[in-house]
Amino acid sequence: MNRRNTKQRQLVAEAVRALDHPSAEEVYAAVSRADSCIGKATVYRNLNLLAEQGEIGRVCPGEGAERYDCRTDKHYHMRCRACGKIFDAPMAPLFSPVQLLGDTGGFMVEDHNIEFVGLCPGCYKKTTED
Ligand SMILES: [Zn+2]
Ligand SMILES: [Zn+2]
Repeated sequence: MNRRNTKQRQLVAEAVRALDHPSAEEVYAAVSRADSCIGKATVYRNLNLLAEQGEIGRVCPGEGAERYDCRTDKHYHMRCRACGKIFDAPMAPLFSPVQLLGDTGGFMVEDHNIEFVGLCPGCYKKTTED
């Protein structure tokens, strides 16, 4: 891997850290401000690579575009239904929620996710203002 590739990957990883659960589009916007020569495909490829290598996390919200996460440990999210922003939920992961399941009919459960949906402080404030 050449130095330009390394530099691009670093820029992408830094943007994910700085932006707090950004979409690929938001990462691209931030990275292209730092390096105007970088293409969208390159940013997307690097996001995929970083996620596959376990250096960043991938979040699939119940609605909206996929997001990236600087945290790679198991944790849950809160999604604002108004602005779509994703926040880390202040909750430790459930140790073994599979035990709470009934008969899955042979479905082999491999993972679980919890998404809390509601309004972020900014959007909640707007609903109470008028
Ligand atoms: Zn919001
Ligand atoms: Zn997160």
